[in-house]
Amino acid sequence: MKTRYIFVTGGVVSSLGKGIFAASLANLLESRGIKITIIKLDPYINVDSGTMSPIQHGEVFVTEDGTETDLDLGHYERFIRTKMTKENNFTTGLIYSEVIRKERSGKYLGQTVQVIPHITNEIKRKILQGGKGYDLVLVEIGGTVGDIESLPFLEAIRQLSIEIGRQYTMFLHLTLVPYLNSTGEMKTKPTQHSIKSLLSIGIQPDMLVCRSSKSISEKEKLKITLICNIPKKAIISLEDVDSIYKIPVLLHLQKIDDYICKRFLMKCPSANLSEWKSLFQSQSNQIDHVTIGMVGKYVHLPDSYRSVIEALKHGGFGNQVEVMIKMIDSEEFESSSSSDNLKMLENVDAILIPGGFGERGIEGKILAVRYARENKIPYLGICLGMQVAFIEYARNVAEMHGANSKEFSSNCQYPVIIPISSRKNDQKENSEKIYQYKGIFQKETRMRIGKKKCHLVRKSKVYSIYKRNVIFERYRHRYEVNKLFLKKIEKAGLCISGISEDRKSVEIIEYPLHPWFIACQFHPEFTSNPRECHPLFLSFIQAAKLFKRINFNKSKQQKNI
Ligand code: GLN
Repeated sequence: MKTRYIFVTGGVVSSLGKGIFAASLANLLESRGIKITIIKLDPYINVDSGTMSPIQHGEVFVTEDGTETDLDLGHYERFIRTKMTKENNFTTGLIYSEVIRKERSGKYLGQTVQVIPHITNEIKRKILQGGKGYDLVLVEIGGTVGDIESLPFLEAIRQLSIEIGRQYTMFLHLTLVPYLNSTGEMKTKPTQHSIKSLLSIGIQPDMLVCRSSKSISEKEKLKITLICNIPKKAIISLEDVDSIYKIPVLLHLQKIDDYICKRFLMKCPSANLSEWKSLFQSQSNQIDHVTIGMVGKYVHLPDSYRSVIEALKHGGFGNQVEVMIKMIDSEEFESSSSSDNLKMLENVDAILIPGGFGERGIEGKILAVRYARENKIPYLGICLGMQVAFIEYARNVAEMHGANSKEFSSNCQYPVIIPISSRKNDQKENSEKIYQYKGIFQKETRMRIGKKKCHLVRKSKVYSIYKRNVIFERYRHRYEVNKLFLKKIEKAGLCISGISEDRKSVEIIEYPLHPWFIACQFHPEFTSNPRECHPLFLSFIQAAKLFKRINFNKSKQQKNI
C-alpha cells in the first residue's frame, strides 16, 4: 500500500499540545490495524536536543538507538507501539549540517546552494526516509504557523503533497479557539488568521482541530466551515481534559478516524480501543492517593521530567492509586534547616531523584537520599539519582568522608563516581560517543547512550521485581561508579544488583536493610507506557502505598495511646 501522510501544523499560540494530539490520533489509527509512525520536525538550529536546556525545551527523550530527541517522541512511544528511532526527529540544524556536509564534499558542484531547493529537498528526503514501510505517517511540524523558522518545513510539505499526490496527503491544522468569559463567546478570529497565513504559503488545511476550554458548538463549526473552506465533518473539537490518555477516545467519538480512512480510501477494521479504555477503568478505580517527593532542579517546569511524571502515573494505574507529585527544589533543600527539610518531606510516601547534569543542588539531593535511607522511606534513584545514592552511602555508611563524583569535584578524596572513559579497553561500543558539551569537546566524557543489556543478580530485590536475569534498558550518562572503592562500599552493606553486559559497570544498587531502596544507572521512565508500566515504577508505587498504610496505622495507634 502506498504510504499516506498527514502533516500536522499548529496555529495561534505554542504549547497547544500538538505532540500529545498527534500521539493520540496515531493511537486511534493504530487501533484500526494501521501501521503508523510519527515524525517530528523541530525548527531549531541545534543539531539534536542533547545540548538544549530542560528549562527551555523540556526533557531530552532518548530512543533505543541512542538518539537524543524532543520530548514529544516520549509521548509517541507512550501512545503507540511503534518504536522511535533517529529517523523520527530532525531539526533545522541537522538539515543544514547535512546540506553543508554535502556541499563541502562536492555533491552540488557548480550549483548555488539555497534554501529552495537544497534545504527543502533534504527535508523531503528525510520525511520520505522516515516513512518507509508504513501505511500512514503523521508529520508534526514544530513551532507555530507564522514563525520565520518553520517556513522551509512548510514549503517542503507543500511540495511533498504535490509530489506524493494530494489523494495520499492531508494537512491538519491544530488551533486555539479561545472562550471569552466577558461575552460568553468562543472566538474563531485567531483561527481565521492562522489559516490565512497557511493559505498565503499555498497550504489549504483539510482538517481543523480546535483546542478550547469548552467543546465547539455546531454554530461555530458552521462559521469555520464557511470562512476557512473546511468541511464540517473535518472540524474536530478538542477541549481540555483531566487526563491526556482520554484524548484518543474523545477523537474517536467525533469520528476523526472514519473521516481520515475514507479520505485516504483505506479499508481497515473499526477502532478497537477496549484495551486503552480499560485504563480509565483503572483510573476511576483510584480510591486513594500516594505522594511522591521528587527532588530536582527544575521544579517549575514539569516537562523537564515529563517521562518520569508519566511513568509514575502508570505506576498509579497498576496499583489503583492516584499519584500526586510534590516537587522539591534540591537547592532549597540544600540551604534549608533540617526542620524545614522535614516539613518539605512531610506526608511524602516515597522519594524519587531523577536524572540530571551539573553540580547545582547536588548536596540537597544527597541529603534527601540520606533522609530516605535513614527513615526507611521508599527510594528510587534514576541515573544521577543512583550516583548521589552511591555518594551518600560512601560518605555516611562506609565512612569515606569526602566521597564525591568527579563531575562535581575533580580533586575529592574519594572519587566514587568517575567519567566513563576512565575505564580502559572499552572504546569499541559503537553507540558510545565522545561527548561535546556547549561546544567544548570533552575528551574524558564519553556519553553512554541508548538501549543496553544489563544482568541482574539473583536473590536481589530487582530480580524479584523483573523476574528475569537479563533486562534491556535505556541509558544516557557520562559518569559511572568507580570500581576501585566498590569492595569497601559493598562490605558496608550496599548490594550491587545489576551489572553491565561486559561486567564492567555497576547498573543497579540496592540497600537490603531497607524496605525499598533501589537506584539504577539507566532511565526506566523512557520505556514505561500506560499499557505496560515499567516494573520498577509499578513496584515503587506499590511500596509507597504500603509505606502510607503502615504510617497511617502507626499514627492511629499513637492517637489511641
Ligand atoms: N550527570 C550524570 C552523568 O553524566 C548523570 C546523568 C543523568 O542523570 N542522565 O553520568
